[in-house]
Amino acid sequence: MKPLYLAESFLSIQGEGKYVGAPSIFLRFGGCNLTCKGFGCEFIHNGSKLTGCDSLFAVYEKYFKQDWQIFNAEELFEKVLLHAKDLPYKPHIVITGGEPLMHYKNHDFYRLLRLLENFFVFVETNATILVDFDTFKEYKNISFCMSVKLSNSGEKYAKRVNKKAIEAICKNAKETFFKFVLSEQMIKESAIKEEIEDITKGHNVPIFCMPLGRNREELDKNSESVISFCIKNGYNYTDRIHIRLWNDKRGV
Ligand code: SF4
Repeated sequence: MKPLYLAESFLSIQGEGKYVGAPSIFLRFGGCNLTCKGFGCEFIHNGSKLTGCDSLFAVYEKYFKQDWQIFNAEELFEKVLLHAKDLPYKPHIVITGGEPLMHYKNHDFYRLLRLLENFFVFVETNATILVDFDTFKEYKNISFCMSVKLSNSGEKYAKRVNKKAIEAICKNAKETFFKFVLSEQMIKESAIKEEIEDITKGHNVPIFCMPLGRNREELDKNSESVISFCIKNGYNYTDRIHIRLWNDKRGV
């Protein structure tokens, strides 16, 4: 079993998706089963040029593992309590990555969910990993944001779309919704609506579309096209408030 690496944790507001604006503690776990090079973020690390998404520091284990830390469930829970210690309420807990469900069978990961039973827990996933909800019943008590990747991620269809995994989440999770990342170029050039329909077909859950943008400039470039696309097709638009406020700063 892979070690449970935490890439970062912080208290902020949820910047995107259905719960935008909600005060949230983010636990970002390291490691991902995709690389999404099509999103085009570049980072030079010890002379190597890495390409991927804006969370690539939580994706490439080979390059960033030394910056990640291993914690057990109790230590992670302590971290959550520390972030929340001055708050007179319970913030949301956002479990993200990388791909956090790579660890879904991990003893400490699963135990952490039990320790967090009095919080609203929310997992952000690419929905490619088939969760066994019958054996790991705790997952039925949490919410899932399914950020299934489209062709603009650069990943092959067979790797980025797992319909059984999506179906299991839709059938078993306490709550779920889809969140897709779109760019102006993709809306102009691809059969994007068909891609979204193929993935969401048969599932009566909300669909959110979000502009691609690792910084304000990119976000500005893509937002209006995504808004028009949402209005035309009846999808929900979600912005990326943390990028609007803090640009490409990490840990906010
Ligand atoms: S699945 Fe998410 S975290 Fe993983 S590489 Fe793609 S965008 Fe990044």
